[in-house]
Amino acid sequence: MTTPFDILFEPVRIGPVTAPNRFYQVPHCNGMGYRMPHSMAAMRGMKAEGGWGVICTEEVEIHHTSDNAPYIEGRLWSDEDIPLWQPMTAAIHAHGSLAGIELAYNGLHVPNLFSRVPPLGPRSMSVSSLSPVQTRRMDKEDFRNLRRWHREAALRAKRAGFDIIYCYAAHNMTLAMQLMLRRYNDRTDEYGGSLQNRVRLFRELIEDTKEAVGDSCGVAVRFAVDELLGDDGLTSQGEGYEIVAMLAELPDLWDVNVSGWANDSATSRFEKEGYQERYIAFVKSLTSKPVVGVGRYTSPDSMVSAIRRGVMDLIGAARPSIADPFLPRKVQEDRLEDIRECIGCNICVTGDMQTVPIRCTQNPTMGEEWRRGWHPEQIQPRRSAKEVLVVGGGPAGLECARALGQRGYTVVLTEARRELGGRVILESALPGLSEWRRVAEWRLGQLAKLPNVSLYPGSPMAAADVLESGIPNVLLATGATWRRDGIGRSLWRPVPGSDGPQVYTPDDLMAGRLPTGRVVIYDDDSYYMGGVLAELLAANGCQVTLITPATLLSYWTQYSLEQKRIQQRLARLGVFWRTQHSLTAIQPDGAQVNDLARGGVDEIPCDGVVLVTERQPNDALYTELLPALDRGKLDSLRVIGDAEAPGIIAQAVYMGHLAAREFEEKAREGTPFLVERTAVA
Ligand code: ADP
Ligand code: SF4
Repeated sequence: MTTPFDILFEPVRIGPVTAPNRFYQVPHCNGMGYRMPHSMAAMRGMKAEGGWGVICTEEVEIHHTSDNAPYIEGRLWSDEDIPLWQPMTAAIHAHGSLAGIELAYNGLHVPNLFSRVPPLGPRSMSVSSLSPVQTRRMDKEDFRNLRRWHREAALRAKRAGFDIIYCYAAHNMTLAMQLMLRRYNDRTDEYGGSLQNRVRLFRELIEDTKEAVGDSCGVAVRFAVDELLGDDGLTSQGEGYEIVAMLAELPDLWDVNVSGWANDSATSRFEKEGYQERYIAFVKSLTSKPVVGVGRYTSPDSMVSAIRRGVMDLIGAARPSIADPFLPRKVQEDRLEDIRECIGCNICVTGDMQTVPIRCTQNPTMGEEWRRGWHPEQIQPRRSAKEVLVVGGGPAGLECARALGQRGYTVVLTEARRELGGRVILESALPGLSEWRRVAEWRLGQLAKLPNVSLYPGSPMAAADVLESGIPNVLLATGATWRRDGIGRSLWRPVPGSDGPQVYTPDDLMAGRLPTGRVVIYDDDSYYMGGVLAELLAANGCQVTLITPATLLSYWTQYSLEQKRIQQRLARLGVFWRTQHSLTAIQPDGAQVNDLARGGVDEIPCDGVVLVTERQPNDALYTELLPALDRGKLDSLRVIGDAEAPGIIAQAVYMGHLAAREFEEKAREGTPFLVERTAVA
């Protein structure tokens, strides 16, 4: 039987190796790196099991003179590092997929905080992180050394079992790319001046790699065709185009994208599926070699279309493969409705940015494959025929009911509101967040297939209702409510005047109760909510001033790579902001603010104040039911998600999943998960 998706399962030749299909997991960081090789192997191996034809590493340091500290990436400095990678390549090969490695020499992108060796650069210049470090201008010997180190790393990668070896010139991260850029390269030798010269190192690295390992490994390039900087950078009409034309047939595969990372991994708040096509579409017209592109493709129709329209040959994916390691298998088995679509929130990226293992909003098993033994598609069967009541149908309650249902338990889920989905439904109606709805949609789709789970929306439960239900095992996922008094990270006493009628919380705005006129948003939460509400109100015609005690607007969105774009968008909408300001009082016609940097109190005239500070858990039901547990009227009672500890949606999903996995299971002794430890000889 043929299907419209058969084209996605055609093999593709990459030099001497063949990808079994067109599903290609491009390199992606994960916060595990050299520190957690077993976790890494299990995570990548899971994607091979799920059908991804090619699975790549993150960027891998090839020499100690370019280290990524404090970030935890891959490492292949010497032969001693080869065993780090063998579990990963073995796990990938076990499912017939190809393993790719992205060799990286980061030049001015890294301050070498670990090795303490001056980093190399096209010229003496500041490194691109804000570290007080400058590079050393490369001389001829440095170029010779770098080529040797890259070649040696390629040979090591081959010994570690990799099938595809990358030469990396994207994200402004490697010397090969930095030399191409006129704004960095002022050299007058054979590596500077003409484009030919500026591309020389990249060409040499590709040639060296082909010569070293090209007999048995595919040699790929990752190249950013456009930096979205106009004339200051590479563009897909200018030098980005010319470079592809120059090197067209040299590599075995072109993996192309836009630069820097924030543009490449744009969130759904700013870019939709397929957003890179307009930049990369030209590449296939210049080369006969296979082309990989990315753009958060989660829809098999869009994937087929990208191939049929000649935009790319292989569908590159980082985030869609994180949200659903089994995406290819589901397409192949015609189970499209089972695909857990990425929502484009970049919580996965925040792991790498904060040097902790990767996590994902949609896929609670991401990063837990080795340490907890979690599989994204399989779960241990139920221990008994017990019935479970889940109260609250937000992300925590839905995921908990779904996973318990998957285990085979009889589950009743009750939700006060008529629509299931909790905060996800409310927040996804805010500007730019519509894709977040997928968190609820996917779970509701899965729940609909489980006859052992009954859903009761429009059913608020009091303690007496819970006891009357006669179900002795209860999980409470009753969510949280935004505070109305200003207390939060910065303020420990209620703000005078916060009980006024002109004071609002995010819950008010999401319920459709909106301020008008001049509005002050006090953002002491510092993630997305303050900025999103500013956008909502500005679009509604309000004159908005956002004040925050943090040093940056929407501070934590730096880690999700959104901060700059949020700032640009709010500026375009005419929103004003003041960082390092806290709220001291709310008056009928204004907000009194304190300048934390310079000192002094100021007044901002306004008609309304929105307090985005922190949330209080809705745990009253839990408190009321605890005595029933003590009296033996309930067998078990657990509070999960925001009702336990308010946090991000990913955490609510995770806690819902964890509670379902732990139900009736014996806890592991000591630390509840495996820990990768350095062996001490
Ligand atoms: P979480 O992120 O932890 O899942 P949410 O706030 O998204 O939390 O969801 C909690 C859900 O629980 C909301 O949809 C809310 O309407 C529902 N809820 C809260 N209290 C009750 C209750 N007593 N009975 C039924 N549903 C409740
Ligand atoms: Fe997609 Fe968000 Fe998961 Fe990342 S964390 S893969 S962006 S759903």
